[in-house]
Amino acid sequence: MQSKIPLELTLAILKPHVIKNPVVLQKIHDIILENGFKVVRSRRIIITPPEADLFYQEHRGKFFYNRLVTFMCSGPSDIMILAGENAISKWRELMGPTKVFQAQYSAPDSIRGKFGLSDTRNATHGSDSTESAEREMRILFKDFDLKSWRETDECLQQLGQIKLDYKSFTSTTDEISMK
Ligand code: ADP
Ligand code: MG
Repeated sequence: MQSKIPLELTLAILKPHVIKNPVVLQKIHDIILENGFKVVRSRRIIITPPEADLFYQEHRGKFFYNRLVTFMCSGPSDIMILAGENAISKWRELMGPTKVFQAQYSAPDSIRGKFGLSDTRNATHGSDSTESAEREMRILFKDFDLKSWRETDECLQQLGQIKLDYKSFTSTTDEISMK
């Protein structure tokens, strides 16, 4: 079965301070679903320093790099692969600007505008391009096979045949593929 328009995938992270706040976590889940994203994968992990280093390699040497890596490894994060039409730009638009002060000023209703605490603790991550999304998925979802997902699950996802368990925020595909 082939789908007509390929779904775009993006890698999202709900950062450690969000996971510590159930109300904020719930609100971000609602934003994800209200905006029509399909949750392809979702998992709670503690990101390791080598993973964070690789993930943020473009920022090595910047003044905020150590702070960023330390924060990202400080506790559990929820990592997700989200799918949808223009998922990458749509998720970044929902997140708002990187810097929280700017987000609060220019996009107060964005995720970062509402739930960001500082430039480091800015609530969420979103890939900035298809290449980044694929690279980031390879780092954090090592067992996710994009090619086989496109061949088998993408169409089911588009047809609404993959159901999300709202409470655990994981889809049926997760359970099948992780067995
Ligand atoms: P984005 O997450 O919007 O793609 P960047 O890729 O530029 O932003 O930065 C990656 C992460 O590094 C940001 O989400 C934020 O947590 C942190 N960061 C970026 N710029 C700063 C800064 N000036 N001060 C502190 N932390 C920063
Ligand atoms: Mg970035």
